[in-house]
Amino acid sequence: MECLKLYLVIPCYNEQEVLPITAQKIREKMQALQQRGKITADSKVVFVDDGSKDKTWELICALHKADKLFRGIKLAHNKGHQNALLAGMMTVRAECDAIISMDADLQDDINAIDEMIERCYEGCDIVYGVRCARDKDTAFKRGTAHGFYKVMKWLGVEIVNDHADYRLMTKRALAALADFDEVNLFLRGLVPLLGFKTATVEYERGERAAGESKYPLKKMIAFAMEGITSMSVKPIRLVTVLGFLIFAVSIIMLLYSLIRHLIGATVTGWTSTVVSIWAIGGLQLLAIGVIGEYIGKIYLETKHRPKYTVEEYLK
Ligand code: UDP
Ligand code: MG
Repeated sequence: MECLKLYLVIPCYNEQEVLPITAQKIREKMQALQQRGKITADSKVVFVDDGSKDKTWELICALHKADKLFRGIKLAHNKGHQNALLAGMMTVRAECDAIISMDADLQDDINAIDEMIERCYEGCDIVYGVRCARDKDTAFKRGTAHGFYKVMKWLGVEIVNDHADYRLMTKRALAALADFDEVNLFLRGLVPLLGFKTATVEYERGERAAGESKYPLKKMIAFAMEGITSMSVKPIRLVTVLGFLIFAVSIIMLLYSLIRHLIGATVTGWTSTVVSIWAIGGLQLLAIGVIGEYIGKIYLETKHRPKYTVEEYLK
């Protein structure tokens, strides 16, 4: 590769507080990289406005007007971080050699970009940014995240620990990603499925430069559920295992009741009857819920609705 034509893709949802700071920092970074001849002069920074309700799009337009380094993609509605990221990457992938995706809040240390580019020059098609220290995150976020990685591994999903969506992907890796047209999108699980030569680059996760998190607990849980159910069918198997276990218990209960009957002590047993009604009823609902979750996923996949709609692309 001669000189890398690099695009940064940054999804933004109601980021008016942080956007000016981010733009400034990133411009300096891009200029430094250009001066050192690491990236071409026509490399770009693409902000994807994920249907923000504040002044984010106006800010992006102003940035674009002042400096052609910045580009903007406006989505027609709020589709969530994963879809916004995909929208950005798929819209620009034909124009560049590689894309680095990152968050708008500067929590991903932009100095890791240098090393990502080096790995790319060494022939890696995917370079994961991995947080080496998470002390800036709350203990709760750290704990839940690590628990989530464990569950994912146990369910047989290949996932890179402590990697969010800060990563470099080359053109051909992006082309491979484009072939996955699932609606239930969990990029962190999909990208490792692509194969290719990969590397990881460590960085320290900082604090949000301004504004507040756009991922409240509710969205975090929904995202984790999406990750599990879109990548693994093991929960359905667990339901089957549960069925077998309960069947085994029922045989024991059958023997127990027969023996009680034969020795003539059959009137007691109210507690065990009531408990089993509730226990089995609860488990059945749980099982139906798990299966329903997958049927819901199939329903959404079969509709093949577009994952995002690009309203405007400021070139
Ligand atoms: N984001 C988005 N759409 C959404 C929610 C978030 O594009 O519906 C973007 C947001 O602007 C940011 C990134 O996703 O660039 C990560 O969000 P945030 O920093 O709030 O998450 P956290 O770091 O708290 O997990
Ligand atoms: Mg953040």
